[in-house]
Amino acid sequence: MELPERPLVIVANRLPVSRTEDGWQPASGGLVTALKPVIEQLGGAWIGWDDDPEGVPPRVDDFNADLHPVSLTEQEVAEYYHGFANRTLWPLFHDLVVEPVIDRGWWRTYEEVNRRFADTVRKVVADAEVPPLIWIQDYHLMLQPELVRSASPDSPIGFFLHTPFPPPELFARLPWRDQILHGLLAADAIGFHTRVYRDNFVRSVQQLYPGVTALGETLVLPDGRQIRAVAHPISIDVQEFGSLAVSDETEVELAELEQQFAGRKVLLGVDRLDYTKGIRHRLQSIELLLERRPDLRGTFAFVQIAVPSRDDVEEYRRLRTSVETEVGRINGRFTEPGKDVPVHYLYRGVPREALAAYYRLADVMCVTPLKDGMNLVAKEFVTVQSAAGGDGVLLLSEFCGTAMEFADDAVRSNPFDVEGQSYLMESALTLEREDRRARIARMAEVVRDGDVYRWVGDELAGIAEGGHGP
Ligand code: UDP
Repeated sequence: MELPERPLVIVANRLPVSRTEDGWQPASGGLVTALKPVIEQLGGAWIGWDDDPEGVPPRVDDFNADLHPVSLTEQEVAEYYHGFANRTLWPLFHDLVVEPVIDRGWWRTYEEVNRRFADTVRKVVADAEVPPLIWIQDYHLMLQPELVRSASPDSPIGFFLHTPFPPPELFARLPWRDQILHGLLAADAIGFHTRVYRDNFVRSVQQLYPGVTALGETLVLPDGRQIRAVAHPISIDVQEFGSLAVSDETEVELAELEQQFAGRKVLLGVDRLDYTKGIRHRLQSIELLLERRPDLRGTFAFVQIAVPSRDDVEEYRRLRTSVETEVGRINGRFTEPGKDVPVHYLYRGVPREALAAYYRLADVMCVTPLKDGMNLVAKEFVTVQSAAGGDGVLLLSEFCGTAMEFADDAVRSNPFDVEGQSYLMESALTLEREDRRARIARMAEVVRDGDVYRWVGDELAGIAEGGHGP
């Protein structure tokens, strides 16, 4: 990978560190893992919201970047983060799975917090000997490119959107659509997970500026400036998951699970408890399957790991109630006296070894979001299965970014059709072993060919190559 010869400045909603029993450590997410070796080589800084009550340290071991916290008041967190980011943009960018809230006060706070982030960027770049490469992450910070452009005119500036970008007719519902596009268009390169999201963005830009032309990955603005708009799907650390799949700890966890579920097939869901993930639809499909096929009762279990998420937001609290009601209803209807329940529901995150053990255990992994920018769980599942010689089936929604990479090797589902999905679950349980193994191998190869290190490399190279002035 050809790295740009400049330090990196990452601007993201969160800082890349977490407090553990052993002190502060780099966080475990894919972006942080993938950037670690790059930052080791180039050095740099990371700007993000400091949500730790005692404050984060200026640096942590094993991560070669200075940490620059942005402090937010309680009201700013409520309006910028829980409000505009998570109740306006998130549902709007996920095809209105719930109704976005339009609130002028939240928008003003979003602008204000974006300005505050940019002030911190300004201070950081003022001290830099070489104009750094500035890489801005995600929907919380879409005004940044324009705000930081004046702070460091000679810096290549990139932006990556980790969610889908909606079709123009949905994006048009946002009263501040022009300001958001204007903010983004100051970047040299803008990355999306898929071509569809990229094309949606380009069409929205063309509605705002009819004079914009798109030539391959290059957008030419009316003033002649050029921007790269690219599709770079994010991925996982394949080697890490490959080793995790067969580690001693994972084997121990798996042995326990195999005992627990002996004699039954296992369908698995692993998601943040988010209304985009299709968990309720999935449960309804399970219920229909149990209803339709009495002979299958007791022959399989459905395990749903639901990682708590955004429980300060009303729609998420309501979702939890309805999911838990659904689980209770199914278990109430279909548990035989003296037998185990058909649905196992875990409202918590699990350690990585346990997660890998569940991935190995699953006969059918149900990744069935109503809309999802990418979905890393699907990539982790095929990688773990393949590394352990497994033959599990991936049931995959058509409406996530990953579906565009796996072609027909996953069993494709339309989660809105709960009855159709219940038939697919049934047929996924009966695929031939050789077919299953071949499908897993092909999907794992796709993930291996484009792992997260490649994603970071492609993104940084694209930003460095970047746009060109008029
Ligand atoms: N995950 C986790 N703990 C768990 C279950 C899942 O840390 O108990 C991780 C999982 O390994 C994956 C991430 O959460 O890397 C979820 O990413 P995905 O892209 O599937 O969905 P997102 O949560 O980003 O919408």
